[in-house]
Amino acid sequence: MAQQWIYLNGEFVTKENAKVSVFDHGFLYGDGIFEGIRIYDGNIFKCKEHLDRLYDSAKSIMLDIPLTYEEMQEALVETIRRNGLRDGYIRLVVSRGPGNLGLDPKRCERAWVIIIVEQLAIYSEEAYRNGLVSVSVSQRRNIPDALNPKIKSLNYLNNILVKIQANLAGVGEAIMVNSQGYVAEGSSDNIFIVKRGVVYTPPCYVGALEGITRNAIIELCGKLGLPLKEEPFTLHDVYVADEVFFTGTAAEVIAVREVDGRVIGEGKAGPITTQLLQEFRKIVTVDGVKVY
Ligand code: PMP
Repeated sequence: MAQQWIYLNGEFVTKENAKVSVFDHGFLYGDGIFEGIRIYDGNIFKCKEHLDRLYDSAKSIMLDIPLTYEEMQEALVETIRRNGLRDGYIRLVVSRGPGNLGLDPKRCERAWVIIIVEQLAIYSEEAYRNGLVSVSVSQRRNIPDALNPKIKSLNYLNNILVKIQANLAGVGEAIMVNSQGYVAEGSSDNIFIVKRGVVYTPPCYVGALEGITRNAIIELCGKLGLPLKEEPFTLHDVYVADEVFFTGTAAEVIAVREVDGRVIGEGKAGPITTQLLQEFRKIVTVDGVKVY
């Protein structure tokens, strides 16, 4: 990308001029929401699903997005075109906007909409074949009756604390359990396990974001005739699983070969994980909104 153009409240500005007020409540309090979206060969993958989640998050935190759904989709398309990108990552942020130092959102006149598109650093093909090493961390998932993890809010401190523990352990992604010991998700990925041919993922009420990739994998399991259960499970079930994998917009479907020193299955991406990754990669260029 020669010149990176950022969408800022309806205008396109250069990276250097893309500035947000220090009084913005997204900055001061994490008061806002966001989406991370992939573009594959000019296709905004699962655009509708991402926008649905964005508008649901906005409704939940009573944030008025100053664009209609159609205008927002158009803004995404236009930002991608401006940057001439065919493959990459889109970060869509809606913050409560500038207010005063008090936390009251009533003081914020208008939400700010920011769209950034970028090239994406992704895992190597070797990592997809051999899987990641992961660990569980002591940081617990915040409970759904506090800040509900289904809201994709700008308040990511819970996840960042997990990432810090992952960094300390020298791994790229860690596993977070909830306060009852049920596996919730990674710092920024959903988690699945496979046992005796059955695919399991935690229900969102355990404390997980309703990932778009997660839902795409659930759908694919249906199409491929793979039995899938959304039910709570523990770290024990992860340790003794035949396969474990994370899903996320950036990570896609990435196998885990070791958790807390326990080798998972054959210690590399298992057959179901591999099949799901292959099938997933078939839909990413067709399922969504075409930009070009
Ligand atoms: N959980 C969390 C906490 C996330 O931030 C994300 C997004 N990276 C995911 C799961 C995966 O969601 P998606 O498939 O929509 O990217």
